[in-house]
Amino acid sequence: MPYAPYAALSETSRGRRYAEPRPAYRSEFQRDRDRIIHSAAFRRLEYKTQVFINHEGDLFRTRLTHSIEVAQIGRSIARALNLNEDLTEAIALAHDLGHTPFGHAGQDALNVCMKKFGGFEHNLQSLRVVDALEERYADFPGLNLTFEAREGILKHCSVKNARNYGELGKRFIEKKQPGLEAQLTNLADELAYTNHDVDDGLRYELIDLNALMEIDLFSNHYHDVVGKYPDLASRRCIHETVRRIINTMVVNLIENSSNVIKKASPADIDDVRNHREPLIAYSRELYDSLLQMKHFLRQQLYAHYQVKRMSRKAKEIIQSLFNVFMDDKYLLPPQYLEKVNTRDQDNSDDHKARVIADYIAGMTDRYALREHHRLFGPVEMPS
Ligand code: MG
Repeated sequence: MPYAPYAALSETSRGRRYAEPRPAYRSEFQRDRDRIIHSAAFRRLEYKTQVFINHEGDLFRTRLTHSIEVAQIGRSIARALNLNEDLTEAIALAHDLGHTPFGHAGQDALNVCMKKFGGFEHNLQSLRVVDALEERYADFPGLNLTFEAREGILKHCSVKNARNYGELGKRFIEKKQPGLEAQLTNLADELAYTNHDVDDGLRYELIDLNALMEIDLFSNHYHDVVGKYPDLASRRCIHETVRRIINTMVVNLIENSSNVIKKASPADIDDVRNHREPLIAYSRELYDSLLQMKHFLRQQLYAHYQVKRMSRKAKEIIQSLFNVFMDDKYLLPPQYLEKVNTRDQDNSDDHKARVIADYIAGMTDRYALREHHRLFGPVEMPS
């Protein structure tokens, strides 16, 4: 199937910040995806987590497996709607590159530390990773991705921050939309984590199956499964239920969005961008069920005392690392000290704080734990 006229097309891309010759055998968006896969930030996703600390269990989703699940779901939706699968995959694989160690707890802690210095926001950081922090190519800083990939990575942005992002920030000021590939990847992200958090939560017994039965989206499918396969082991019942929920949500998103797009009948991607509302959306009914499930997770899983304890530990680690480096920049590894010193004549703490935030945000969970131990752990006695 050819792409829909309103899909993001390689030929009409708004281009890269640094002009480059077209790739010989790949689309522009394939090249974006390939650069993301070869980045250091992408490899670090393996050792970063969203809700749970990496080493607490080998079966928890990591940010890497989460990103791959988002890409899988996103590509299915893109293909069914004749949208650009390559771009969707690129955005999905890059969407979490700017996350700190220790998931949301880490991001919140770093944001508090950075309050006086312009704040810290993982979406902006993902863009910063692909625009500046990856130092790999001879001709340009960052990965020099297309406008469309960068548009998808910058999911949210305050109006105040948007002014610093030129063309890319415009849509937040003018209240417009990104292309459909960006819209659908955003929903694929939510779809993926909602379902895998239920799955991980049940596996590690942080969620009570009986409590979850109050959530229609779960209980309807669960009863169907148990009715049809009464002898199935409970772990398989849960997996079969979760896969049915994912399927129901994906099908709903495809069918409902297809109708919404038909009604709006955009001629091209700029029509999509100028539309007041997103064109990728669930039906009202399914959206309400999803909200119910997310509310449940917030209450039962993200607020579970064991998760809270991990979050607390994470916060302490991030804060103490940030403070100790702000206090004495000579404790930083040489390559970061060098970055601090390039602009030290400003005599402003903003630059130093940003370099430290970049350093901390780039850490994996276990690297942060080790770095914390190196700086604050007990001194080993010589044997
Ligand atoms: Mg995500």
